[in-house]
Amino acid sequence: MPSILLRSGRERSLQQRHPWVFSGAIAAVRGNANNGQSIDVYAANGEWLARGFYSANSQIQVRLATWEAEQPLDEAWLQSRLTRALAGRAHLASQPHHACRLVFSEADGLPGLIVDRYGQYLSIQCLIPAMVERRDTLIALLVEMLAPEGIYEHSDAEICTREGLTPHEGLLWGRPPEGHVLVEPLTRASAQGSPTVLRVDLAGGQKTGHYLDQAYNHERVAVYCHQAEVLDGFCYSGGFSVAAARAGASRMTLIDSSAAALDLARANVGANAPGADVELVDGDMFQILRQYREQARRFDVVILDPPKFAHSQRHLERAARGYKDINLLAMQLLRPGGILATFSCSGLVAPDLFQKIVAGAARDARREVQLIERLTQSSDHPVLLTFPESEYLKGLLCRVW
Ligand code: SAH
Repeated sequence: MPSILLRSGRERSLQQRHPWVFSGAIAAVRGNANNGQSIDVYAANGEWLARGFYSANSQIQVRLATWEAEQPLDEAWLQSRLTRALAGRAHLASQPHHACRLVFSEADGLPGLIVDRYGQYLSIQCLIPAMVERRDTLIALLVEMLAPEGIYEHSDAEICTREGLTPHEGLLWGRPPEGHVLVEPLTRASAQGSPTVLRVDLAGGQKTGHYLDQAYNHERVAVYCHQAEVLDGFCYSGGFSVAAARAGASRMTLIDSSAAALDLARANVGANAPGADVELVDGDMFQILRQYREQARRFDVVILDPPKFAHSQRHLERAARGYKDINLLAMQLLRPGGILATFSCSGLVAPDLFQKIVAGAARDARREVQLIERLTQSSDHPVLLTFPESEYLKGLLCRVW
């Protein structure tokens, strides 16, 4: 088997079970290592450390998958990891229409693999060469374990490019759904009344079809929306607005730069809260917030859930300016005592940095801002304690005076 020899002193993070080996930590690649292959990693003193998957074209050259020397990364390993991931969600996704992330990459010990369940359909992402190579095995295992109607792949273009992979999109197995798939999002509250049902566009939607990580936060933010005028910024398919409308919001303004997203949002709010007072705005949030400030429009709740602004360390400063800008504008639009629910899904923006950015916005807006709740990703996106990077979604729920 080919192997990796680390530079001296670079074994520490592996010993602490962090799953990434960066190219800068590598002294030598020994043997004929093929992209996607299983590879052993040794410390500079020759000690065996761990085994993982080789990504020749990535900055993260090895993603570790086992710390047991006797454990081959074969089909039985893949099956046991999938079984474990499913067992960990058994209490969450028990109903046929549930939507839930079933596999969350490194955090489930399956680096480079995402599996999302949308009712009877699965949507997967193979984000490293090793998972692309094992795609057929994966499909066979998922079919055997979950008996889905169909499996889609939506491998994230940005990550694929970084890994030197060609993004793969479309139906992998089974038959396509007729139109949109109707799903029940995860909920933390015990079921009251009829469940929320959301439309997911499996073939043409963003990411794997939906932003599952926000399911609990949709509910949590809605608590503050009773009789409120709500601005749902970066709304996508309207998850926050659906929950707000069900909680009795008086009016909702949904903003997104994607017309397809707004169509989904309109349908979702209409189906879950018939007669709700909604305004759908197609455009750029940065411009629209400025326009609203000029018009002196005011809201009781503003939600900011932008896409990832920081894609690499290089973009961090620009990302920070972007976050500050929208948060400052949002605060200016809030009535005294209003609620700002502000999120960042950029893994590179650490929680304390995000809080500092929002604090900077509060200072410049000359508003007194209290942090009342910290929010994170829903529990189907577990955080592996040895891999802090798996905690990527940060939300601050603030009262703005
Ligand atoms: N809040 C959503 C998820 C938002 S994802 C939910 O809970 O499901 C981010 C959204 O921002 C995407 O729908 C994308 O189309 C939109 N978007 C990206 N850039 C934008 C911009 N500059 N202005 C407005 N919307 C934007």
